[in-house]
Amino acid sequence: MKALLHVKQLNKIYGKGTQQFHALQDISFKIEEGEFVGVMGSSGAGKSTLLNLLATIDTPTTGDIVIAGQTVSTMNADQLTDFRRDHLGFIFQDYNLLDSLTVQENILLPLAIAKKPAKVIAKKVEEIAQLFGIEKLLHKYPYEISGGQKQRTAASRALVTEPKLIFADEPTGALDSKSATELLHSFVRLNEEKEATIMMVTHDAYAASFCRRIIFIQDGKLALEIVKGTKTRQQFLEQILQTIAQMGGDRHDVI
Ligand code: ADP
Repeated sequence: MKALLHVKQLNKIYGKGTQQFHALQDISFKIEEGEFVGVMGSSGAGKSTLLNLLATIDTPTTGDIVIAGQTVSTMNADQLTDFRRDHLGFIFQDYNLLDSLTVQENILLPLAIAKKPAKVIAKKVEEIAQLFGIEKLLHKYPYEISGGQKQRTAASRALVTEPKLIFADEPTGALDSKSATELLHSFVRLNEEKEATIMMVTHDAYAASFCRRIIFIQDGKLALEIVKGTKTRQQFLEQILQTIAQMGGDRHDVI
């Protein structure tokens, strides 16, 4: 397997002079193609900072980020816009759907922007809607569907371009447990059947238990990582909860 994401000695310092805050310290890790990796850590650990750097929304103070063989930390604004559009998919907690467009129109938007032929668009929208189980909702508007269905629409839109690397930021944060479970199963299918590479930031141990590997961040540093291996999801969940407890976190903070 090949490293799709290679993070090298990443540091992020916010502010200047006496107001400086070292939010990330010497973070290095790799994500191989086809992995489903969770990033966990308590509030203030640096998860959002890391995600913003990887998503190319913010720049590191020092260090390199290499995605699909390209060093994104040195690209200019135009190069970043193209790179994000062509290689990355984003799923956020708050969906970011356009209310005046139907589910179908929301999903096909990135393909329309990329000027793909109508036939290709129709086929891809159908495929991805099926994967997320929203094929019956395509003509509805966001206000007519539930939170879970909105999130599956947002995920479909993020993934319809088949991005190399998918970043999900607390994707289950606003969902009830049934919708969260459905979404997580869709991620697992996407990962196993389409070999999508996913990095999901979450503070939720249950959501993290669907990943195959988890990286823990504590006080801006990479604290440790654990791998699911042959464990069942339930066993992995127990291991995650134990790890959080050992790290000094309150179990109830994260579930
Ligand atoms: P998490 O997502 O794990 O909750 P964050 O990445 O949001 O953590 O924050 C990590 C630390 O960096 C926190 O102590 C936070 O207060 C600080 N921080 C985040 N953004 C800024 C900023 N723009 N300026 C100064 N400090 C920041």
